[in-house]
Amino acid sequence: MVNAKINGINIEVEKGTSILEAAKKVNINLPTLCNMYMIDGKTRNCKGTCRVCIVEVEGQNKLIPSCETELLEGMSVKTHSLKAVKARRTIVELLLSNHPMDCLNCEKNNKCELQKLASDLGIDEKAYIGEKSHFDLDISDGFIRDREKCILCRRCVTACNEIQKVYAITVADRGFGSNISTFFNDSISNTQCTYCGQCVAVCPTGALREKSDYKKVWEVIDDKYSLVQIAPSVRYALAEEFDLESGELSTGKIVTALKLLGFKGVFDTNFAADLTIMEEATEFIKRFTEGKNLPLITSCCPAWIRYAENTYNENLHLISSCKSPQQMFGATAKSYLPEKLGIKKEDISVVSIMPCIAKKHEAKREEMQDVNGIRDVDIVITTREFAKLIREAGIDIVNLPESDFDNPLGLSSGAATIFGTSGGVMEAALRTAYEWVTGNTLENIDFEVVRGLEGIKEAVIDLNGVKINIAVASSLGNAKKIMDEIKSGNSKYHFIEIMACPGGCIDGGGQPYIKSNRERLKKRMQAVYKDDKGRTLRKSHENPMIKQIYEDFLIKPNSELAHNILHTQYKSK
Ligand code: SF4
Repeated sequence: MVNAKINGINIEVEKGTSILEAAKKVNINLPTLCNMYMIDGKTRNCKGTCRVCIVEVEGQNKLIPSCETELLEGMSVKTHSLKAVKARRTIVELLLSNHPMDCLNCEKNNKCELQKLASDLGIDEKAYIGEKSHFDLDISDGFIRDREKCILCRRCVTACNEIQKVYAITVADRGFGSNISTFFNDSISNTQCTYCGQCVAVCPTGALREKSDYKKVWEVIDDKYSLVQIAPSVRYALAEEFDLESGELSTGKIVTALKLLGFKGVFDTNFAADLTIMEEATEFIKRFTEGKNLPLITSCCPAWIRYAENTYNENLHLISSCKSPQQMFGATAKSYLPEKLGIKKEDISVVSIMPCIAKKHEAKREEMQDVNGIRDVDIVITTREFAKLIREAGIDIVNLPESDFDNPLGLSSGAATIFGTSGGVMEAALRTAYEWVTGNTLENIDFEVVRGLEGIKEAVIDLNGVKINIAVASSLGNAKKIMDEIKSGNSKYHFIEIMACPGGCIDGGGQPYIKSNRERLKKRMQAVYKDDKGRTLRKSHENPMIKQIYEDFLIKPNSELAHNILHTQYKSK
């Protein structure tokens, strides 16, 4: 332990604690534009690039970055001395001198950390006027890179290279020309970017952001037979956009808001998650029984799929052929509902509300359309865009009454809702696979062993004497570890779940901004499991609407028709 003083307050902290972290312990928040939380709960330093956390240490002439400096025995630190505050203000003024300052037109308006810090420091005029950097805007599927708004904090580089191990971006050039770039300065769409959106989730300004599609939603509500689906994790995080705790906004209120927006059918991606389990559990049991193409790896996450296509193309045959729940919903809605509702397939428009930026790209994949070019899903918006839509429509969502989803594609199980967090797809599949394989009722359906925010979880599951080795990985960096084992021939697993975002979709690139704050993520995760626990229907194969769709239409899981509509294939890139 070391003993020191911060702003005159005596403090004892573990040796190795940074001044920034020590200050937090005595309730002093130092600003920072480059530090960010990591999923392991420790603050990961981005090498002190922004310098706004500088402090004064008694006996030292130079101001020092508190994030990079360890609190030492006997130190006396002043976090807000006149010298420190003046220098901090100058640093931010210099950042602003090379910034477009078009806050009103920026996606990040009111959510921008630079804007907030400038306001907190009382900056109300342009202190330095000079040359500004100019870069072309890079607009890719679902994603915008706007380097003129970049402050070179390097959080995105940490997220892409250290957490995700994707290496799509890096710092290029020198001095005034420094920028976050790609190989050969190519468009992000020509790189190995997976569109996971983790760079967007941590960007302090509007330099990286999703391509906004929410304004198109108004057009389809007016012109088309518009159906909407909402992904599981969206409903738990949306509350944060309306100043509530994660999970405090009930699903029933969200459904009412969607009806008020004017959608003709308000359905649930969770229904398609139950459908996914029917198809995927069948696929797993077949492969396991035949001893072929193991381990089976889940396919719900499009960023993981793009990563595999870019990096592990020799093992694409191991990935489940099931489309993701988003695409299963769209394909089912457009093939099952036209006859039921008496409308033409081409008149239906499917809007998805997702926690995810990669889902925008997924909906545009070549395979995700029928032979006539009618897409499974027409528009994808993120949780953040959905919140904007609600605000734009003037809907007071917090005080709405509750309503139920429409049917037949609206009823779902607790197994479906846990898809929203890492381990959920595996747990849902095990609930069904266990009962199908053993013929017995599963007594304890909570597979605690696959729950939690750890990057890799593994277990041996006993299906009445038949043992299966399973693994759950979240973040592409952890996926890499699992896939490298398979590649080297040292993998013991039979069934693997992979989700690209750390913690799963609760931490998706389209969710309200929290910079992977572990406490916030825990709250989202707890809301997911609370919802599951409170339901009477908790197994996908017991969902009566799922039974009905197989009786009426799909015949049985993995039937030829089910394969045509609900399954897909992958291509090495
Ligand atoms: Fe999207 Fe979820 Fe995959 Fe993240 S983990 S990329 S939110 S599907």
